Amino acid sequence: MKRVLITGAAGFLGSHLCDRFVKEGCHVIAMDNLITGDMKNIEHLMPLENFEFQHHDVSNHIHVPGDLDYILHFASPASPIDYLKIPIQTLKVGSLGVHNCLGLAKAKGARMLIASTSEIYGDPLVHPQTEEYWGNVNPVGPRGVYDEAKRFQEAMTMAYHTYHGVETRIARIFNTYGPRMRLNDGRVLPAFIGQALRGEDLTVFGDGSQTRSFCYVGDLVEGLFRLLKSDYAQPVNIGNPDEISISDFAEEIISLTGTDQKVIYKDLPVDDPKQRQPDITKAKGILDWQPTVSRAEGLKITYEYFKSLTEEELHKKDHKSFDSYIK
Ligand code: UDP
Repeated sequence: MKRVLITGAAGFLGSHLCDRFVKEGCHVIAMDNLITGDMKNIEHLMPLENFEFQHHDVSNHIHVPGDLDYILHFASPASPIDYLKIPIQTLKVGSLGVHNCLGLAKAKGARMLIASTSEIYGDPLVHPQTEEYWGNVNPVGPRGVYDEAKRFQEAMTMAYHTYHGVETRIARIFNTYGPRMRLNDGRVLPAFIGQALRGEDLTVFGDGSQTRSFCYVGDLVEGLFRLLKSDYAQPVNIGNPDEISISDFAEEIISLTGTDQKVIYKDLPVDDPKQRQPDITKAKGILDWQPTVSRAEGLKITYEYFKSLTEEELHKKDHKSFDSYIK
């Protein structure tokens, strides 16, 4: 039985990865400090023999008894609101956290996959973004703490690969959505659906002409799984190239939810990327992977999830453990 450590396991992506690796018959060691993660996302796995949870901050030394075959480093705040609120922790988990994980991978002879991001391209001047593009990042802007931490994380991972011979994989993850996203993390999809469900107007930032390309979480997990199993150590974009403007996206959410609310316009956040679309030629060629779930299908599933939340969850301003953390 393969043994897998997943950091950020109680988060949106981490919890879906836990499901996948449990289903693959692996023994999963799930680690999370629960700053932005939520035990609710993995509570269904807790009774299983091949699943264990460690409440731990990966920015501190990690101790895992026994063998490890794979490490998936998915611990990090991942929404602009989160990393504005907790910038230092964001920098630490992308730097100290990845260093600890890589040290562990080296000690155990484990293969490690890191969650990098389209944010390493910053506000991109090349469109769509290929892995060869080096990006346009403002290191001292509000997004710098996340973008630079992730860029450092890639550099550190590559150094462990070339210098120590650790088997590493780098996934550059583009905007992803699906069940278990936090309703109030500020990201556009939960923001719009939450507003529709609460009967509030939908807030489009800027004039809404900025674009994003949204990937359903099931597709993303399949891409990550294939990348881990591949022998390719260079970065690979994983995302859905189906690009849409944020104002058109708001209209899609209005027709999906049937809300009679309108769109209101607010200021565009500083350094908000104007366009984003992955070039997935590499993923197609190397991993034989491409998304299969259309936005219409994925949004329907995701809307059903948000509709199943309780009134209390719907009106909660933010995640409980997160609120208590920032005092
Ligand atoms: N956005 C918006 N209204 C919201 C939340 C976000 O118009 O209530 C915009 C945001 O300015 C950005 C896009 O939606 O242009 C995607 O934002 P998100 O925070 O989801 O992700 P990221 O900017 O990191 O891609």
